[in-house]
Amino acid sequence: MNHQSLVIIGSGLAGYAVARELRKLNTEIPITMLSADHGGFYSKPMLSNALATGKTPASILSSDAAMMASQLKITIRPFTRVNTIAHSSNTVFLENGENLSYSHLVLAVGADPIRLPLSGNAVEEVLSVNDLDDYHRFRETLKDKKEIAILGAGLIGCEFANDLAIAGYQVHVIHIGAHPLGRLLPEEAGKYLQDKLTAAGIRFHLKTKVQRIERIGNRYHLIIDEDQMIEADLVLSAVGLRPRTQLAKAAGIYVNHGVVTNRYLQTENTTENTNIFALGDCAEVDGKVLPFVMPITHAARALAATVAGTPTPVHYPPMPVFVKTPACPIVVSPPDPNVIGEWQIDANQDGVKALFQDMVGNLHGFALLGAATKEKNTITPQLPPILA
Ligand SMILES: Cc1cc2nc3c(=O)[nH]c(=O)nc-3n(C[C@H](O)[C@H](O)[C@H](O)COP(=O)(O)OP(=O)(O)OC[C@H]3O[C@@H](n4cnc5c(N)ncnc54)[C@H](O)[C@@H]3O)c2cc1C
Repeated sequence: MNHQSLVIIGSGLAGYAVARELRKLNTEIPITMLSADHGGFYSKPMLSNALATGKTPASILSSDAAMMASQLKITIRPFTRVNTIAHSSNTVFLENGENLSYSHLVLAVGADPIRLPLSGNAVEEVLSVNDLDDYHRFRETLKDKKEIAILGAGLIGCEFANDLAIAGYQVHVIHIGAHPLGRLLPEEAGKYLQDKLTAAGIRFHLKTKVQRIERIGNRYHLIIDEDQMIEADLVLSAVGLRPRTQLAKAAGIYVNHGVVTNRYLQTENTTENTNIFALGDCAEVDGKVLPFVMPITHAARALAATVAGTPTPVHYPPMPVFVKTPACPIVVSPPDPNVIGEWQIDANQDGVKALFQDMVGNLHGFALLGAATKEKNTITPQLPPILA
């Protein structure tokens, strides 16, 4: 085995961020990227506002695997799934029967869309969009359709709802909670968003749980209960993600909600910290699962420095997230759920400014909607770091 050889599993933003950051520090270490998919590079956040921005699935792909391999001077193996990891021999076993050795292994395997336990003859036809191939399928299925039902009013559900409404579709959003974006926004802000999206033509069905989905002819019947049913031509599920932990777990690595890592992005098993690292949507870094782009950027820089020979812990500054709902611009920085405090809300027809403060008045999070989003740059520096 070469003394230094980095194997990265996954060609999403996390896998590519590590490869890119390492190449800035070191041009010699051989890097092999193994990907279950096409291996091309694209910005996943573009998937949920591509209709409004006039992007097709083909134009979202910025570089294919061959272009990325030559640009970063790495080996990329598309359509190559890793089946198992043998940590004791520093080897990964591929689906095609081959195996590969590494000195450092990076898990950047992402997350799976959660599927609701629904019944009915059309459950398998419910779509979800978590990668470019899914999006391609979604756009193909969307052709000639008019009425779309979205399950879930979280960030992805709201973004797709707004995007579809802009493109002229009739959109239903069915959500178990009392207001959209319930995990990120206090109630008043959620209601403000709901009003804006309703004004943009989206119909919300809140505190509502779909039980069954039946296909009748070309239509889907989403059965809520005996008396209530919603009809649609396409059903999109956006009820959350579950980190892909199976590979790590089978290799004896600790997993909790995600693949557990310390501040060095390093995983551990029963006896030791390992030479297997994790970041991105699959990872739980120092207790935090943060499925967004900015944590990947910070984690990749730290991890690249570590692999290049300077062990470097990750620091997360405040990392506000923009929600791509043009009917109601939003930027949020949710508070740590362990902090006790309350929301101070200043709302008018132009927007909502919600600040989460602890008992002594220190700021721990915010939600800015509409005109209040312009205060993001002055408020963000008042937040504590997410990982100091
Ligand atoms: C529609 C949408 C909109 C979003 N918008 C925003 C936004 O506005 N802002 C923001 O911050 N975040 C946003 N996000 C989240 C952000 O895009 C993700 O956090 C990020 O892209 C995750 O990257 P990743 O590399 O961890 O995972 P992924 O992109 O899922 O990559 C996982 C990779 O692992 C590969 N893989 C998995 N298992 C194996 C295996 N066994 N063998 C080989 N390869 C394997 C897959 O093929 C894939 O290449 C959005 C997400 C979605 C879905």
